[in-house]
Amino acid sequence: MRGRHSIIAFGPPGAGKGTHAERLVRDFGLERIATGDILRAAVADDTPLGRQAKPYMEAGALVPDELVIPIVEARMRATPHERGFLFDGFPRTIAQATMLFEAAERVGAPVEKVIYLRTPQEVIVTRLTGRRICRRCGAVFNTETMPPKVAGVCDACGGELYQREDDTEATVLARLRVYEEQTADVMAFYRDRGLVVEIDGALPAEESYPMIAASLGAVS
Ligand code: AMP
Repeated sequence: MRGRHSIIAFGPPGAGKGTHAERLVRDFGLERIATGDILRAAVADDTPLGRQAKPYMEAGALVPDELVIPIVEARMRATPHERGFLFDGFPRTIAQATMLFEAAERVGAPVEKVIYLRTPQEVIVTRLTGRRICRRCGAVFNTETMPPKVAGVCDACGGELYQREDDTEATVLARLRVYEEQTADVMAFYRDRGLVVEIDGALPAEESYPMIAASLGAVS
């Protein structure tokens, strides 16, 4: 991939956006902007943004555009991006997609590809309710499909594993409804512009990642 680009990892919660985003950042030198991570950090630090966002996140609802869009604009302006950006969990509404399209052009890293991880609901529920994350290094495990060697302990660094508060079954189902009602339409925005690469999100990451990387290799 030459030049500067913005790439979007898109799909329902639990499609594998974060897992692929980490590898894409490493392999393609992109700067990751993950709105979920930014918002969770704001909640943990109890900032004014965090206090406003928390009730929406706990309910599995979208945080309003008026809060999310300015954070992303500021992050894009403040981050040096020699190669471009990788967006994870953003955009989730048409207003966000419109803002990003323009802002990415403005900073010289236009949106080049949207990696759409199409994933069936039953796969998502298993992945998210079983998901455990290392507090120290961020490695992701799954109690059903990828258990750590010792329950509750990270194989990679020995850190403590935790479950995200919004990964309980009731909240996962709410997040999926929100995705269907508010976010799935964003796909049409990108399809109209011919930017979508569709990947089977049910495949294990080791199988789907090479397809994703190959599709970006073609970006010039
Ligand atoms: P994620 O880590 O991407 O699954 O996001 C976790 C939660 O953060 C979501 O359920 C929303 O409440 C909130 N969130 C993250 N990104 C956005 C966004 N682009 N727009 C609105 N809310 C968001």
